[in-house]
Amino acid sequence: MKLEKLTEGILFSHPVEESDRPILAGIRGDEFTLIIDAGNSKAHYQEFETALANQAFPKRNAVVLTHWHWDHIFGAASATGPVLAHRLTREKMMELKGYEWTDEALEARVQAGTEIEFCRSCIVKELPSPRQVAIRIPEIEVEDSLIVDLGRTRCVIEHIGSEHAKDHLIIYSEEDRVLFIGDILFVELYDGEWYWTPGKVERLIDRLLSYPAEWVVASHVYPVQSRAAFEAECAWIRWIGEVVEATDSLEAAKRMIGEKDPQRAEEGMGMAGWFFEGLKREIEKIDK
Ligand SMILES: [Zn+2]
Repeated sequence: MKLEKLTEGILFSHPVEESDRPILAGIRGDEFTLIIDAGNSKAHYQEFETALANQAFPKRNAVVLTHWHWDHIFGAASATGPVLAHRLTREKMMELKGYEWTDEALEARVQAGTEIEFCRSCIVKELPSPRQVAIRIPEIEVEDSLIVDLGRTRCVIEHIGSEHAKDHLIIYSEEDRVLFIGDILFVELYDGEWYWTPGKVERLIDRLLSYPAEWVVASHVYPVQSRAAFEAECAWIRWIGEVVEATDSLEAAKRMIGEKDPQRAEEGMGMAGWFFEGLKREIEKIDK
C-alpha cells in the first residue's frame, strides 16, 4: 500500500472510490502510533498497519474510530492495539455485531430500509461472498473529549457529531496542525432522500474552522486540503445553503447556482437538493 507524507509525523493512505475505502492515517508518537480509522476490511487495516511499520512508525498503536459507518470500522477486528470510539459508536457496533452479512441478509436489510444500496454495493466489492465480518467492540469509550499525548504531539479527540453521524469524533494533532474530520461534513444517508440543514451545516463549519489547522483531512476527499482550500470549500457550501434558504423553489436556487458557478454547477445543484430536503424536514418538524 502506498502511503503519502502529510507532515513529518503523519502518513496517510489514499481513498479508494470503488469499494469506498476511506483515508487511513497514522500519527507518529515517541513510543506509539495513533491510527485514525480502521478501514473497511481486515485486509485494508492490515495493509495500512504493515505499511506504517515499514516506514519505521512505532508498532505499538491505538486506533480511534471517527464514526460507526462500515467503511471506518470493519478493519478494527484485526487491529493489534486498543480501539477507541465514542459511546454511540460502540452502541451502534453492538447492534451491527448481531447482524448477518451474507448477500441475502444484506439485500433483506436494503429492502427493509436498515441498509442502503450504496453501502451494500461497496461491501460486496470489498468483501466478495462468502464473507466473514467480525465486529470488534472498541475497548475505550470516549464521551465528550479526550487528549492522547504521543510525546512528539498531543492529539485532541472531540465529539462533535453531525447529520452524517451523531457519534462523529474529530481528531486534531497539535504539533502537526492537522485536523481529521472523517465524513463529518457530509449529508445524512440512511433516512431516505439525502439531506442536510443550512443552519446545522453553518454551525458545524464554524466549529471545524475554530481549530488552528493548516491541513484538513476528510475521509474520502483527495488530495488532502490545505486550510485555504478547505475555507474556500466551506464558503461555497455555506453560500449554497444561503441561496436555498433565500429562494422558495429548488429550481430557482439551481438557476442561481448555475449562473454564478457554471464549472461546479452540477455538484452545486446536487448540494442544493440536499439542503432543500433538509429545510423541508425542518419545516415539517415545526408543523408537527
Ligand atoms: Zn460515514
